[in-house]
Amino acid sequence: MAKFFLYLACLQINMVVKDQKRLRPLYKLLRRIERKAPKQIQKIASASGEKVWEGIDCLSCANCCKSMSPTYTHADIKRIAAFLKIPADEMKAKWLRKERGTGNWLNKTLPCQFLDSKTNMCKVYEVRPADCSGFPHLTRKRFIDYVHVHTQNLDECPATFKMVERMNQLVMGTL
Ligand code: SF4
Ligand code: SF4
Repeated sequence: MAKFFLYLACLQINMVVKDQKRLRPLYKLLRRIERKAPKQIQKIASASGEKVWEGIDCLSCANCCKSMSPTYTHADIKRIAAFLKIPADEMKAKWLRKERGTGNWLNKTLPCQFLDSKTNMCKVYEVRPADCSGFPHLTRKRFIDYVHVHTQNLDECPATFKMVERMNQLVMGTL
């Protein structure tokens, strides 16, 4: 039964972030920011980022763990392998692949092998990759440096969606 409610919650979340009518103006705003950011954009991004997490439950979502791979640093691999009590090479051989071009270590398959599909919890939460603990990078960096990341995440991550939607309302003067 719990799995069914989780399924319903995920369905509801995806109906919002995949709503093309709501997405279109947000992609437009991100493209505009990439071309020429409005002067107050960092202020607007910070103000929008503050309240984003109200009403968002990552355990009812887990879209990031289901649809994209974190980038594992060597320190991440070492730490997670030690936590699982296996050699780092075994962890790489079992679950990871080296991305051509960048040499980054990524998951071989999705959803992430460390996601518990019954609870949406991370089985290596205490030692998860730094990329996961910082995700979706809404307020940690200068917004302008992360526009490409937010563009990628917009239709997957409800927190990103909510932040960019608030930014759009502030830019348009409707909030
Ligand atoms: S390591 Fe954990 S938090 Fe990171 S993608 Fe996998 S399940 Fe999600
Ligand atoms: S960070 Fe975003 S995509 Fe990941 S679980 Fe939370 S709301 Fe969902």
